[in-house]
This record gives sequence, C-alpha cells and structure tokens, in this order.
Amino acid sequence: MELQTGLTDGTIVTFAGGSLAETATVLLVAEREGQVLVVTDRTPFHPQSLTWPDQPGDRGSLTLANGGLVTVRDSREAVLNVATGLLLAGDAALGQKRGDPDLRAVVLHWLDAGPVPTVGDVVGLTVDQTYRDALSLQHTGVHLAALALNQCAAPFWTKEGQDPDTMGFPNLDQAAVTRSEIGGTASLDVYRLGKSLRKKGFDRDAFVADLSDRAATINATLATMLASPAPVSLTPTEGQLGDRRLWSSQLNGKPVSMPCGGTHVADLSQIARITVTLDPVEDGFAMRTTTH
Ligand SMILES: [Zn+2]
Repeated sequence: MELQTGLTDGTIVTFAGGSLAETATVLLVAEREGQVLVVTDRTPFHPQSLTWPDQPGDRGSLTLANGGLVTVRDSREAVLNVATGLLLAGDAALGQKRGDPDLRAVVLHWLDAGPVPTVGDVVGLTVDQTYRDALSLQHTGVHLAALALNQCAAPFWTKEGQDPDTMGFPNLDQAAVTRSEIGGTASLDVYRLGKSLRKKGFDRDAFVADLSDRAATINATLATMLASPAPVSLTPTEGQLGDRRLWSSQLNGKPVSMPCGGTHVADLSQIARITVTLDPVEDGFAMRTTTH
C-alpha cells in the first residue's frame, strides 16, 4: 500500500514501558478496502513489525472525541518518507532501503468502517490487556528458550570464534532462526541448519540425532533459569517506533540483554513454567515453546 500524506515524523510509542492507554492527536485518517487506518502522534499499541513480524499487533479500542468507542482490529508498522510524505505499508514498505535517514516507522491502527475520528481530534487509545499480556508472556518465554537452546547446542560446535549470546554461548538462535511466530498460548521458531552453518562448524547431524533429548536438556535449563526470578525491562520505555530497543533481565544472578522490539512480562516471577518440544523440519528443526 502507498499513500501520499502530510505526515512529517514517525510515531512515538510507549509499549516498551508497559503502557496500555494514551491520549493522542489524530494525524491521518484514510480508508482502504472497507477498513479505516488511523495514525496518531503517539500510541500505546505495539504494532506487528514489517521486517521481523514475530509478534502480532496489539488490538484494542479508540475513544472518539464525542465519547464513542471504535474497535481497533489490528496495528501494524508502516514506513514514512519524511522528505516526500509517502507512507508505505505491506510489501511496498519492504523494498525500502534500511538506514535511509528520511525513513521513519509509523504505527497504523486499523479500524472497521463506521464512525471515525477526523484529523486534529484528541482521542483515547486503549490496548486489549488480556491479549497483550498473553503475547508478552509467550515472548519472554521465547527469549529464555532461545538462550537455553544456545546453551544446549554449545557442545555441538566444533570450531571456536562463534558470535556469543548474552550468556557467552555460541548464538545458534541468531545464526539459524528463519521464522518466529509468537501466539497467545505458544510460540514457534523454525531453525535452518544449512550448509553455511555446517561450514561454521556446527555438527548438525549429531544435534538432530536425538531431538527429544535436546528438548529435555533445554527444559531442565529453563527450570533452573526460573528458579531465581528477576525484573524484566525493555528500554528506552518511550520513543520513536523505529528506535532500537534492548530487552534486559537477570538469569542465574547474571545480567542478560538482547535487542528486541516486542512486549514482555515485567518480572520473571510472572512465569510458572516454560517447556519446549523440538521436531525435525526440512534442513533443520522447529522449536515450539509454551509458557505458563
Ligand atoms: Zn524479542
């Protein structure tokens, strides 16, 4: 989708600080295929990312200036060229050059056709907390599972000098993940153990020879990680959607961090249990992570 707009900057987002409601000014309203998209100056909504769409966009509601309530069905990241005002979403946005200084990230709120706000209105934006909490729980679980996977896979690297993760283990997760889907009750990560990974010294055949044993090792590591819970933070807590954010916590008493643009629980004590299952897929394996 391409849309010529008068927008001059990206959206300020507050989801990283855990915000669920904001008062905002409407900057753009447009209709597309029976749906209405609304852009505001700021929002508590966490939108689905364009380049790594692992976590679905927040849903919720928009309170109109006259008090009327409209459902926000979905929220997605789009790209704005501030030099031209051109707003790009979906496939049209993916072709944009990363690092172009004129590009800003914008949150699109998708509403059903019906009563809609007008540009300049001050509106309320409220996130569906039940859905957000469910996604946050699974997303934090996925981070811990990725670190536990790296730890389990460490003995299967035959060459030194791999990129380490935040705990110091070779970062198999980053090197091999091709797809990640975070859902409300479980998440799926797909890993490709291809030729380049074998060349880097990962003993793929030995690792996949007993995936149920690998899963048991990961689950034992996850139980240990949760035995001493610590706060979780995502920083900066407020800023441009396009800014880089860092997820931080403590595992086994040591600080850990990794880049992340999603939402998370505020404390690991909110998690009772994380379990994974590993299944073979073509040229690799899939890890299903369930967090309670
Ligand atoms: Zn993440």
